[in-house]
Amino acid sequence: MNPSRWILIVLAVAIASRVTSAQDAAGVVIEATLVADNVYMITGQGGNIGLSIGEDGAILVDDQFGRLTKRILATVAELTPEPVKFVINTHWHGDHTGGNENLRKAGAIIVAHENVRRAMSTEHFLAAFNHTTPVSPEAALPVVTFTESMSFHFNGDDIRIQHVAPAHTDGDSLVIFRNANVIHMGDTYFNGMYPFIDVSTGGSIAGMIAAADTALELSNDKTQIIPGHGPLSGVAELRASRAMLQTVHDRIGELIKQGKSRDDVIAAAPTSDFDEKWGNGFMKPAKWVGIVYDSMVN
Ligand SMILES: [Zn+2]
Repeated sequence: MNPSRWILIVLAVAIASRVTSAQDAAGVVIEATLVADNVYMITGQGGNIGLSIGEDGAILVDDQFGRLTKRILATVAELTPEPVKFVINTHWHGDHTGGNENLRKAGAIIVAHENVRRAMSTEHFLAAFNHTTPVSPEAALPVVTFTESMSFHFNGDDIRIQHVAPAHTDGDSLVIFRNANVIHMGDTYFNGMYPFIDVSTGGSIAGMIAAADTALELSNDKTQIIPGHGPLSGVAELRASRAMLQTVHDRIGELIKQGKSRDDVIAAAPTSDFDEKWGNGFMKPAKWVGIVYDSMVN
């Protein structure tokens, strides 16, 4: 093989994995990874973003924080000359919807489950993090809302947004790119770590397990899964996460049945054999156990 052909192949492989990447002064790297056909995952700071590109325009699934919008749009512009026409929010949390206002001003239509709009229209106190989220400005709210599901026939794909019963919040949706065989699960899936469950807006561990089951039913061995947080996933990692959730659910359920208090359940360290593998992410073991307990007694 002649050297120029070899260089072309090396370049093609590099392009297929990390397509574009740039770092800012604060150390946030915005990086786009090709997932399948015309679907990308963009990482930066906050929830993972999904991107569909093609002749109809661009669709973003979630948009991280407002301070990153310019850079996220610059990354999109490196991949397609078409504008972002729609933004789909998988749920209401600020690390997934923080760019809404900027993107709406840039011409995008924001789409989400009706509970996302409702949650963003009220102040929320997250006891788990002692954090108050203020009411979002009108310009950041979803403009198009739905109750169960809706579909975009766009860029040669059927992109379905499917609401699931309360899991991470009460307004979660999976976004299914049927032809590309990709599912963006929002925060109903944290790959490789204990997930945060927002009990204050209706989340529960039973709902997280059900959401994983829904995604698995829609998957085959080749399905690529974009988690809300953590690296790009296949079905094997999702199955492992689902199995961990089920075991933790059953163990804590048993302790609750024995009449243990919240403090007793945390002190019993029912996840200790899982903590090394799953407890090094956003949710530390004791806090995670407390949240699971809360989600099972409410
Ligand atoms: Zn979230």
